[in-house]
Amino acid sequence: MEVISKEMQRLLATGSTLRAMFEEGKRMVKQYGAENVFDFSLGNPSVPTPAAMNESMINVINNTDSMMLHGYMSNAGYESSRQAVADDLNRRFGTHFAAKNVTMTVGAANALVIAIKILTNPGDEVIVFAPFFLEYRNYISNFGAKTIVVPPNPPTFMPDMDAFAAAITERTRAVIIDNPNNPSGVVYDVETIRKMAAIMEEKQKEYGTSIFLLSDEPYREIVYDGVEVPFLTKYYRNTLVCYSYSKAMSVPGERIGYLLMPDEVDESEQIIAASSIGIRVLGCVNAPSLQQLAIIGAMDHLCDVNEYDKNRKLLMEILDEAGFEYAKPQGTFYLFMKTPIEDDRAFVAKAKDDYQLLLSAGSAFDCPGWLRIAYCVPHDRIARSRSRFVALGHEFGLN
Ligand code: PLP
Repeated sequence: MEVISKEMQRLLATGSTLRAMFEEGKRMVKQYGAENVFDFSLGNPSVPTPAAMNESMINVINNTDSMMLHGYMSNAGYESSRQAVADDLNRRFGTHFAAKNVTMTVGAANALVIAIKILTNPGDEVIVFAPFFLEYRNYISNFGAKTIVVPPNPPTFMPDMDAFAAAITERTRAVIIDNPNNPSGVVYDVETIRKMAAIMEEKQKEYGTSIFLLSDEPYREIVYDGVEVPFLTKYYRNTLVCYSYSKAMSVPGERIGYLLMPDEVDESEQIIAASSIGIRVLGCVNAPSLQQLAIIGAMDHLCDVNEYDKNRKLLMEILDEAGFEYAKPQGTFYLFMKTPIEDDRAFVAKAKDDYQLLLSAGSAFDCPGWLRIAYCVPHDRIARSRSRFVALGHEFGLN
């Protein structure tokens, strides 16, 4: 008799290529020494957590009644945290959200999973745009829904609108946008968002269905050169926002984020009520209490994006010298590079074995022929990797 479910057997067999690379990096450090291994595989923030967040956590611990701090609260979270999130959004985006529109979640991952659980029945479809955060497939298949992939559109990686329109069917319940995008680093501008919204509005009418836009926003504040990230509830009525403080506040292990459900979305009251049930039945019960309270005092003090920008500029300079092509990153802390051979996995293996450069194959993001470089690493690691990238490029006749 099989003990482990078929789905879990599949997950065990496929594993996570990124995590595997990370583990391989640790093994290589033992073999080559830390200074000779250049790990650019994981999206773990490298900029220090703002002092305001640490101070806020201490302040909450010292000044909150212990029953309140450590006890259960409403599944949706503390009223004060939800109100603080609503106020913050209203101030920044001129919106009119109230505490009831916000459910505090265990990161963006939890917000996405709750939203997908609320919206899909088995066999329903959720659209994603390649390249995409690879966990989406798992989040979607958890509930028996199907991932429908809109193929990548290099070198801009802006969604191909015809392919998007063709992907929408009567069974489409949601479309996930990750803006700024992991792994491509590009930002969908207002014009692109307007076009997507128009297509979705039209399809909703055609099929008589509700198609939700799930705006996955862990990197919202990590943008460069003054690029603006459109706030999607303004452009498409049926939008739910899945936010996380993981990246912009450098607290991914703390697991804090929220699901925003505007009043304007179809069946909003049911969705809001369902989100409280969703977080409970998915086994989280509520977002971590300390973090819910700590973010209230720290929201205005996000991490210093200039640190990532310095890394971005240096990396681009090195790749230019080495002769590689890439999509110019406008946000996140990832750079998406074209591999000089079609087989991105083979190229990534070569970079690792011969140059100790740990990169992530684009195939893992449904985008073969490309690779991701996570530059959320110490600046010095990027500086020291110059000769490796240049030598790698040279081997392929690029410099
Ligand atoms: N969405 C994207 C695009 C991500 O890159 C990540 C994390 O890397 C998540 C969601 C999950 O975020 P969190 O760990 O804050 O839940």
